[in-house]
Amino acid sequence: MQILTVDSISKVYGSKKNGKQYQALKNITFQVNKGEFIGVMGSSGSGKTTLLNILGSIDKPTTGSFEMAGNEIALLGKKELANHRMKNIGFIFQDYNLLETMTLKENILLPLALQGASTEQMEEKLLPLITDLGIKEVANKYPYEVSGGEQQRAAACRALITKPKLILADEPTGNLDSKSSKDLLNLLTYINKEYNATILLVTHDVFAASYCEKILFIRDGEIYNELYSGENKKQFFDSIIDVMTVLGGERK
Ligand code: ADP
Ligand code: MG
Repeated sequence: MQILTVDSISKVYGSKKNGKQYQALKNITFQVNKGEFIGVMGSSGSGKTTLLNILGSIDKPTTGSFEMAGNEIALLGKKELANHRMKNIGFIFQDYNLLETMTLKENILLPLALQGASTEQMEEKLLPLITDLGIKEVANKYPYEVSGGEQQRAAACRALITKPKLILADEPTGNLDSKSSKDLLNLLTYINKEYNATILLVTHDVFAASYCEKILFIRDGEIYNELYSGENKKQFFDSIIDVMTVLGGERK
């Protein structure tokens, strides 16, 4: 079952008036099936964040359209769009985006609170998730009192608490040390398998990308190539490096 269908999306920043236009995406077309774990790679400035922001309805495409969880997004009104985002999409960002004045627990529960869930409903959903994701012991602490890895796990819990159909993660390991990165990638794999969550992971890190089942490579705003992970993880890793070398992307 397809959860996301992207049809010829292009994005031009700037206006014709001041003449400073920049085409960040060109005719991006791809599909994502339910339960897939997909990587989006490309060097810095290739358009990865632009694409993710459009798919997350943070931004709008200049031309083209996409369908997510059965909704033709361009046709949704303001209220429907807000509802769609709240219900269907979970975001994980590079800098966690946790609210500093709230505890991890309060941060995680925020999406449910916004949906008007009762305290009871919230507690019921919270406990298995924070236990599963290993932050039960620190749930009542504030973001500044815990490690980056724990903050990112809290952000993952917040993205998952509504059981969204799609998780959009933009360079989620970008600020983590290698141990926390690995933990988070294992966690995303776990979420993908156990919760059957569909994940779109943007990264320019080859190691992070090697966790995905399929990778879309973007160059200058266009899909340049795609790679599928086979049985052999080492081979997949090497193939990713080959493509990234051609693309001239940074390696970490
Ligand atoms: P990536 O995430 O792959 O590093 P981005 O999607 O952030 O790339 O950016 C793609 C290109 O679009 C870059 O050249 C960037 O400078 C440009 N860009 C991004 N956001 C804006 C914006 N709001 N206005 C103008 N140009 C932008
Ligand atoms: Mg980016």
